Amino acid sequence: MDTQLDNSRENARDTITPEEKLKRARETMIMCTHCLSDFSLGNSEFIQDHYGHSSKTGNLVDCWHPSELPTCSIKCPLCSGLNYIYTHPQSRQVIIPIIIFMGLQKENIFKGILDRKGDQILSRQQ
Ligand SMILES: [Zn+2]
Ligand SMILES: [Zn+2]
Repeated sequence: MDTQLDNSRENARDTITPEEKLKRARETMIMCTHCLSDFSLGNSEFIQDHYGHSSKTGNLVDCWHPSELPTCSIKCPLCSGLNYIYTHPQSRQVIIPIIIFMGLQKENIFKGILDRKGDQILSRQQ
């Protein structure tokens, strides 16, 4: 009986609410590789990259698929520079763990999501 109580107390201490988890993710600071300023993920926009191909014969790219997280970018709110996740110095330690392993939706972490298809960057309808 006592052991059970101790266990539940232990669990309560280690559990953070989904709201707290999201708050921590949004407040996480990363450095812009262009202007070297720090900015929070919650204050920046996520660039969802896509790779395209032609579904018919010809050169027209008419079918787009979302790229994997490491090949997407995060837009700096201060200089608008695009921080490519794969080569970002905080990629493995901060960015990828927060987005993938915390199980949070990018739509909830970032201020906005922009879809990039080739040269076009379009704001996503929310
Ligand atoms: Zn396709
Ligand atoms: Zn910047």
